[in-house]
Amino acid sequence: MPTLPIYHFMANGLFSIEFFPPNTPEGVVKLRETRKQFAPIKPGFYSVTFGAGGSTREKTLSTVLEIAGEGNVAAPHISCIGSTQESIGALLETYKQNGINRLVALRGDLPSGMGDIGHFRHADDLVRFIRDTTGNHFHIEVAAYPEYHPQSRFAERDLQAYAHKVKAGADSSITQFFYNADAYFHFVEATKKLGAEVPVVPGIMPFHNYSKIARFADMSGAEMPRWIARKMEGYLDDAASIRAFGLDVITQMCERLLAGGAPGLHFYSMNQSALTLEIWKRLRLAQ
Ligand code: FAD
Repeated sequence: MPTLPIYHFMANGLFSIEFFPPNTPEGVVKLRETRKQFAPIKPGFYSVTFGAGGSTREKTLSTVLEIAGEGNVAAPHISCIGSTQESIGALLETYKQNGINRLVALRGDLPSGMGDIGHFRHADDLVRFIRDTTGNHFHIEVAAYPEYHPQSRFAERDLQAYAHKVKAGADSSITQFFYNADAYFHFVEATKKLGAEVPVVPGIMPFHNYSKIARFADMSGAEMPRWIARKMEGYLDDAASIRAFGLDVITQMCERLLAGGAPGLHFYSMNQSALTLEIWKRLRLAQ
């Protein structure tokens, strides 16, 4: 695969940053600062997560409206498990009325103790509902799992489930984070063969905090390669070495992904800018 010039990637606008909605007024102020730091690199869009079972519905909405009000493209995540058609329909209408035209559509997970699955069983039901009720108003992203969804027992069924979401009307997808580029390339090939041909944007998780990320990886079914784990663990409290090694590992993986045809990158920023900006700079993505 020939290496494409970097402006090719930027022109496609598939470089994006993910935030979670802040819980406190201080968090809101801090996220504004973070956005100011990201502003010069002009990400294609900022996405904002949605708490399980709709627990951050209002905070996601207010964060998205603030981001859009600053002239950015904002993409709210919407999860459907435990929701009615009416509540999802009302949320879509609110976003439409506020000029939001990009969504990340998810099934989500039911919080423990919340028993009612609601109307939607899987993300493909949500994608179909969004298309049926709002036509082509929204660009719909769905979640992709190069190392398979943790609840899925059979790899082929998980790939089929992804293909169903795409055929239901998704425009592109963002992956769960991973540290194994081969899994991404395999996923793209395998899902193409199933007729799911939309752009698959790798989700990139910098090593904000190694032990926390290792726990996340364990929960979300992402493999932490032994060579990374052993090296990180060996650094003990040496924060400078952890940072330097983490940046090298992620930058090299991103270079490989882009050279191999990945159509962009989506950064799990954890509401912090420093590591993402450094990787962006090393990849020469800055405009
Ligand atoms: P689905 O695509 O519905 O898949 C869930 C499981 O069901 C899989 O095992 C799949 O194989 C199976 N399945 C799917 N469709 C079918 C079908 N038709 N028949 C049978 N089986 C099927 N969580 C949040 O709570 N808030 C967020 O904001 C959020 N953002 C995310 C963003 C990204 C990019 C990613 C990758 C994940 C995100 N998540 C978020 C996590 C996500 O909600 C969980 O992984 C959840 O368990 C699955 O959601 P999904 O949309 O992938 O579900």
